[in-house]
Amino acid sequence: MKKLYIETLGCQMNKSDSERIAGILSHFDYVETDVEKEADLLIINTCSIRQLSADKAYSKLGVWGKWKKSRPELKIAICGCVAQQDKEKVRVRAPYVDLVFGTHNIYQLPELIKKIEENEKVCAITNNPVVCNQNDFKILRKQDSVNAWIPIIEGCNNFCTYCVVPFTRGRERSRHPEEIIQEAKNIIKEGFKEITLLGQNVDSYGKDLKDKNITLANLLRDLNKLDGEFRIRFVTSYPSDITDDLINAVDECDKVCKYFHIPMQSGNSHILAEMNRHYSKEQYYEIAAKIRKRFPDVAITSDFIAGFPGETEQEFQDTLDAIDELELDYSNTAAYSPRVFTKAGKMIDKFIPEDIKYERLERLNEKNREVCLKSNKKFVGKVLNVLVEGKTEKDGVIVLNSRAGNNKIVHFVDDTKNIGDFVNVKITKAQTWCLYGESV
Ligand code: SF4
Repeated sequence: MKKLYIETLGCQMNKSDSERIAGILSHFDYVETDVEKEADLLIINTCSIRQLSADKAYSKLGVWGKWKKSRPELKIAICGCVAQQDKEKVRVRAPYVDLVFGTHNIYQLPELIKKIEENEKVCAITNNPVVCNQNDFKILRKQDSVNAWIPIIEGCNNFCTYCVVPFTRGRERSRHPEEIIQEAKNIIKEGFKEITLLGQNVDSYGKDLKDKNITLANLLRDLNKLDGEFRIRFVTSYPSDITDDLINAVDECDKVCKYFHIPMQSGNSHILAEMNRHYSKEQYYEIAAKIRKRFPDVAITSDFIAGFPGETEQEFQDTLDAIDELELDYSNTAAYSPRVFTKAGKMIDKFIPEDIKYERLERLNEKNREVCLKSNKKFVGKVLNVLVEGKTEKDGVIVLNSRAGNNKIVHFVDDTKNIGDFVNVKITKAQTWCLYGESV
């Protein structure tokens, strides 16, 4: 057996890809290890959403390159969005890399691995995905987790002006529902208690397939019919692609969590247009209101960018106001980072000075902390059904770490419960990032 170490940067889609990579390589006698130094094959699965993530990938390659000097048989590979973006250029910065493979080439790994084992240097980057029935390969899911990811659609057609994803992941491609349902059945049989359907734009699921009945709403209905005690989530939603039928499906399906992650990115319609987001501030408000009306305990979380090129102080203030007015439950925040290939990356004359950008990010984070605490306080006294994800010991007491359907983190003590149990918990205390409660 040969040892494989994978370092994964970035989003859930990358984490899911890494599980697939480990699964494919297990067919070729590779076993995963957590100890980098004992690996025969090192893979870094990269993210290029921000410059910082891309720099991190090259810095890790630098460390591995030094190891290879004393262990020339060590194989080093890079995949993910930086590989897709930089292609052969990776080897200009890191000539010791044996294999560069793109986001479309994961299922080509059997032949690529053979080549590098024969000491060939390989760069496999295609613009179209190498297709196969994904269920032909094992997926080595993280067994200590209660949640399993299923990518249902990859790529994006939206071309937001700040985002590199359409260039690194390509256009939208949906998987066939039969393949997804089979994967879900396997997951349930393996004992996982939560399935998260993944897509860069998950609500677009099915639009590229001929059968117009293939939609995210209908997929949720089909998955909801499967036997077993488990729940279903889906991320990430694009505001104007959330249909009434999707909201109806979430309502009808008892296993589907009442939780929506809907990136707004800016609370100002002019900036949204500059970002090429296909909705106005008012349209986002309408969608959020519709969801809140239907699901009283729903959580709506979002993403925001501080300091998009040309953003004025007033336009930034509109974002802070929107977070307040929408009573968002949590937001991921980031300072704008120019990316290659993107339109906004070329708006150099409109770039916001770094100090202003980071000062805005700090105010955005402060607003986020404020609304999170306010959101959490709404749940004190309520009973939430949670799934136990882990345990930690505090002062000799075992505390259960769990997540409610609406994605709220809940800690409680109950030595009769275990990881993977669903428990009703009455919330007794709220803090900024979590809730505390007692099982009932
Ligand atoms: S919707 Fe926009 S931000 Fe999201 S992946 Fe597509 S292009 Fe990127």
